[in-house]
Amino acid sequence: MRETLNALNILEKLPIPLVVFKLLDRETKDFEFVYANKANQKASRVDIKEFEGKRLIDIFPGIYDLGLPGLYLQCIETQEIVDIGEIEFGDEKVNYVKRSFRIKAFPLGGDEMMILYEDVSSLKEAEDELKKKNAILEEKNKSLEEFAYITSHDLQEPLGTIASFVEMLLLGYKDLLDDQGKQILDYIGTSTLRVKGMVHNILQYSRLGSEKEKIDIDCNVVLDEIRSDLKKLLDENKADLKINPLPTINGTQSEIRMLFQNLITNAIKYQPKGNIPEIEVSVKEEQDHWVFSVKDNGIGIAEENQKKIFRMFQRLHLDKEYEGVGIGLANCQKIVDGHHGELWVESELGKGSTFYFTIPK
Ligand code: ADP
Repeated sequence: MRETLNALNILEKLPIPLVVFKLLDRETKDFEFVYANKANQKASRVDIKEFEGKRLIDIFPGIYDLGLPGLYLQCIETQEIVDIGEIEFGDEKVNYVKRSFRIKAFPLGGDEMMILYEDVSSLKEAEDELKKKNAILEEKNKSLEEFAYITSHDLQEPLGTIASFVEMLLLGYKDLLDDQGKQILDYIGTSTLRVKGMVHNILQYSRLGSEKEKIDIDCNVVLDEIRSDLKKLLDENKADLKINPLPTINGTQSEIRMLFQNLITNAIKYQPKGNIPEIEVSVKEEQDHWVFSVKDNGIGIAEENQKKIFRMFQRLHLDKEYEGVGIGLANCQKIVDGHHGELWVESELGKGSTFYFTIPK
């Protein structure tokens, strides 16, 4: 046989560390190092070849504290692969420094088995670093939300005062002003109301997710309630709202209700003039989550706008075309995020839209 095809040669060249053990004693779970390839030297920073013929208990007693020999024995007894997963190991033979290894045990028949492992320390370090950064980001996000809550909450009062003084001026002092003065006062009045509305919306947005209690929610009941709450709007638009049977999910009731209601209200609103809205609420069951959908036959959304509509105050139309403030979908996004799901839209301009969101089971 050619040297390159020699099995031992291949094992020696294999860049994956591999060790073969032979069971010596079932009771004490003692094993003998039968073979270790070259890749071990790099991975464990010791020349495991030196240990060939020696007993595992003498070389790495620490491994017994981690319970690994029991799993090696299981591999031999069941003759099945045992995925040991990740362990942290290090002793005087492995540089004293603890490193993370991912290990799998493969049966070789009889009393022998093979261990394949990789050093995942740097992967783990990167993962830990990412976790730390994530925690910092979460903390920053929380302070930003608190900031939004406090400012919008505190702004409400002076805004209310301005609005009522403008009203007093308009009621009691209108005759003292010329036309331009009246017009300016009108502008101040409408702008104040707009800012009040925006502040109210930001306050509502920042409160989402603050209710910790999640309960079982029968979505059929929620949708029945929404249908009766929206009766006037549905009748005025002669809208046809079809609701297919829905599951019970775990979530924050008021938020799940707001989510469906926002999507349905938008489906009624964003219609070509004179069109009769046809809306269908459905669900598809996946292995670990539900995929809900709200489909309409409305104006549709161009592909380049399908991401930005979920951001706060992002609107695609002027108020005189379609009234709105651009916070409904931002609320939906925050609600779905808070329920660990995803939200997206599939749509073609002029051909209606389907909004999808997932909720884990
Ligand atoms: P608002 O309705 O107050 O403008 P939203 O955040 O609910 O705010 O929606 C953002 C934008 O997304 C809307 O201005 C509209 O352009 C678009 N949009 C939302 N729902 C639909 C829909 N069903 N069909 C077409 N466009 C939609």
